[in-house]
Amino acid sequence: MSDTVERTFIAIKPDGVQRGLVAKIIAVFEQRGYKLVAIKMVCPSREHLEVHYDDLRGKPFFQGLIEFMKSGPIVAMVWEGLDVVRQGRKLLGATNPLESEPGTIRGNFAIDTGRNVCHGSDSVKSAKREIAHWFNNDELCDYNLELKKSIYE
Ligand code: ADP
Repeated sequence: MSDTVERTFIAIKPDGVQRGLVAKIIAVFEQRGYKLVAIKMVCPSREHLEVHYDDLRGKPFFQGLIEFMKSGPIVAMVWEGLDVVRQGRKLLGATNPLESEPGTIRGNFAIDTGRNVCHGSDSVKSAKREIAHWFNNDELCDYNLELKKSIYE
């Protein structure tokens, strides 16, 4: 169970909140066996979002993406567990929902790339940066998941 401390940043975007998908998206990670270590609803500033999406500055959709992400609250979360960054991306599905497999969150609940309902860190390095960008250390809960023995060998 030594590698179970990997963490990822998952966000439910304004479209996911509006469409009532918060509980469903949380359930996907919970049911897989991942541990929720932080969660909050936020209305981030433009500056905060521009730093989050810094690597996309210059893309034609950048301003539209920031406007959309500012259009309503976001549910920001940190999930922990073995290989959670890579598995989290798989659970979300492809960036373009039309390329997402049925059974993934985007494959089940989205059609347009610009309304793909959720965000997930794309690497362990991005996850560390994003978690530090969205959460203070004292918002990350350190607790023992009692179910761990039922989830990991
Ligand atoms: P991901 O969110 O899967 O990591 P990216 O980092 O490439 O994908 O893009 C960030 C977000 O920007 C996407 O989730 C999507 O909401 C939006 N986006 C990406 N590409 C496009 C596009 N071609 N048109 C509109 N929005 C886009």
